[in-house]
Amino acid sequence: MNAPDTDSPTVGLVSLGCPKALVDSEQIVTRLRSEGYRMAPRYEQADLVVVNTCGFIDSAKAESLETIGEALTENGKVLVTGCMGAKPEDITRIHPKVLGVTGPHQADAVLASVHQHLPRPHDPRIDLVPPGGLKLTPGHYAYLKISEGCNHKCSFCIIPDMRGKLRSRPLGMVMREAESLVERGVSELLVISQDTSAYGVDVKYQTDYWREREWETRIHDLARALGELEAWVRLHYVYPYPHVDRLIPLMNEGLILPYLDIPFQHASKRILKAMKRPAAAENTLERVWRWREQCPHLVIRSTFIVGFPGETKADFEQLLEWLEAAELDRVGCFQYSPVEGAAANALPDPVPEAVKEERWHRFMACQAEISARRLKHRIGQVEPVIIDRLEDNTAIARSYGDAPEIDGQVIVENAGHATVGDFIDVEITGADQHDLFARPAGRPPAT
Ligand code: SF4
Repeated sequence: MNAPDTDSPTVGLVSLGCPKALVDSEQIVTRLRSEGYRMAPRYEQADLVVVNTCGFIDSAKAESLETIGEALTENGKVLVTGCMGAKPEDITRIHPKVLGVTGPHQADAVLASVHQHLPRPHDPRIDLVPPGGLKLTPGHYAYLKISEGCNHKCSFCIIPDMRGKLRSRPLGMVMREAESLVERGVSELLVISQDTSAYGVDVKYQTDYWREREWETRIHDLARALGELEAWVRLHYVYPYPHVDRLIPLMNEGLILPYLDIPFQHASKRILKAMKRPAAAENTLERVWRWREQCPHLVIRSTFIVGFPGETKADFEQLLEWLEAAELDRVGCFQYSPVEGAAANALPDPVPEAVKEERWHRFMACQAEISARRLKHRIGQVEPVIIDRLEDNTAIARSYGDAPEIDGQVIVENAGHATVGDFIDVEITGADQHDLFARPAGRPPAT
């Protein structure tokens, strides 16, 4: 955010939580800026502070409450929005002095509250706002939110209660936003939602128009359309339904990256059923193998939960066996912790904390070996990477297999004159459990 340089009213925004919350923050910032408000990077420079909260797990709620307290102490005029705002009393009970509370995805309500407590300036400078809105990510990549809400009822999750049922954005609207981001220099689009595979289900896959052609509002058509833009397209939060099979040929055609972020969460059918996971009945292992046959360089990232209520030793061993067999590339793992209001809280047979801890360590050790093995296979390959930042002559980059913030990096020595956001071809020269090491392709090793 830029420091204010005029008398325009100034707003500070603290964005907590996941990329979906970040997109909400971007919409709020875009609209504030288009109305002529200035954004301030520090509490004391702002006339009012908006805190966009996360309520996913208890530690996220605690962080949100702490941030609200900090903003009240440092500034005093605080509006709260985001996931925690779905239950305003949880906030006002602890922080009765907040000026207002709104829920997630309620930019209109946030703007109305800002107008009420900090009247909008008379001279909105719409020309200060680039088409496509303002982004809080670095200029070369951007999140593209394709829908809001979720139709599932995973027993550990309260997101559907907070964000409501699935509402897909029209394909034409998503594509116009994507196109304008690419025109502004974005080289990588990260498609996000709560359930990317379900895109369009709520509107019965109705047709829409982009570039004077008809498209169905479904993930396959969206991926194909995004593939026409000059950018990497990376899909997040995909569930392993049969129709995802149709995305694999698009990877082979080079339209989208051969990368899938699939939150499997577990492998035991019993636990998946207790979790009420989408696609719980699918044979995911068979599907993963088939995708790999069709697209051998496919990278799969996932997240898992260990210690879910009722998880037995046998369930956990099954999970480890599945992990070994699936050979996923990138994996995150959480120890189960109850979330206030989640159905899973009523489930019997909680797993003792010490057992959760022990399972988590075993899971992570097993995955570290798999990850190191998978990365080692790539040594000697020449691959394009996108540069995130430069440190002297070294470029910190990412390959097609690395999403920003959550996956590994490619450390490129002697990167020469490359700049942030550039794509360069590199030869992979080494690997550890998380990162790859490389040199610009065609250049001899440094002596
Ligand atoms: S798919 Fe499950 S975990 Fe994901 S948002 Fe929907 S209910 Fe929550």
